Amino acid sequence: MPNLKDLVNGILSGNFTALSKGITLCESKKLEDRKFANELVKACLPHSGNSIRIGITGVPGVGKSTFIETFGMYLIEQQKRKVAVLAVDPSSQRSKGSILGDKTRMNNLSVHPDAFIRPSPSSGSLGGVTHHSRESIILCEAAGFNTIIVETVGVGQSEIEVKEMTDFFLLLMLAGAGDELQGIKRGIMEMADGMLINKADGENLTAAKLAKREYQNALHLFPAAESGSTPKVEICSALNAFNLEKAWNMIDDFIQLTTDNNYFEAQRKSQLNAWFKKSIQERLNLALFGNKRINNFINNLETQVIQKQVSPTEAANLVYEEFKKSLL
Ligand code: GDP
Repeated sequence: MPNLKDLVNGILSGNFTALSKGITLCESKKLEDRKFANELVKACLPHSGNSIRIGITGVPGVGKSTFIETFGMYLIEQQKRKVAVLAVDPSSQRSKGSILGDKTRMNNLSVHPDAFIRPSPSSGSLGGVTHHSRESIILCEAAGFNTIIVETVGVGQSEIEVKEMTDFFLLLMLAGAGDELQGIKRGIMEMADGMLINKADGENLTAAKLAKREYQNALHLFPAAESGSTPKVEICSALNAFNLEKAWNMIDDFIQLTTDNNYFEAQRKSQLNAWFKKSIQERLNLALFGNKRINNFINNLETQVIQKQVSPTEAANLVYEEFKKSLL
């Protein structure tokens, strides 16, 4: 185990090795690592928060990796920002490996000294799948990154998680494919603070412009966002680095507006609170399912539940009573 003070100092001085090591500890399944990680996060928390956290989602193939590569380079070169890229990928069974697993798609960004890319871990961490992502954000901010990009694949539960840990939620879309075809649920569109129609290049440019208008109209029908901002739609080409400034302005305008109307700070606070509440649940889950005796008890009950000898609700009550006993 590294020395806590050394690791904290390493992270605070922006050392990449220390940052990676810290994140690895946050992702670890070992209880002793977890304890260390808690101390580490606690030490980094006061140095965190000074950033823009951007969540990016969209179906596989929409161009997320390509966008993060060119947009990340744009942010560094044109906006003089420091960019950290993280991924939330709870579906560890993905056949093609984790998101961002293939860093070669981020050729320039992955070697730039002002960028830090963290591929998603191959499996869930101890105490929740996305717990460590929130902690990684804290660590990256403490290391001096003022732009945190959190990527997620746009097909499931992970969007909500990412929305809950970012300031601006960006949805990447394609022109020409219906929403259903893209697998993007209306709920996810409603969550978006902004939308980019990617691959607006070559023959696809006209279709992208058309789609922009269609989505803009569709968004007007949605209920007003709590942020007080109306979601914008833009077109871009991640491949050709086209319209990246518009993409940035969309985010920057949102941050300005929500800072002025205090939504930004209120959302950050409620996100911390949500993290707290989620952690309580996860901690209890761990205590419950990590307890061998309780686990055996549950396994035995399972058979009875399936055979309709005991109702699921009653069985849950029995588990609770057994758990209470184990705490005495
Ligand atoms: P992801 O699965 O969402 O991360 O998508 P990728 O970034 O891996 O991109 C999927 C494919 O689309 C790759 O072959 C990219 O080269 C291509 N692609 C990404 N962005 C663009 C773009 O703006 N224009 C065009 N024409 N192709 C793109």
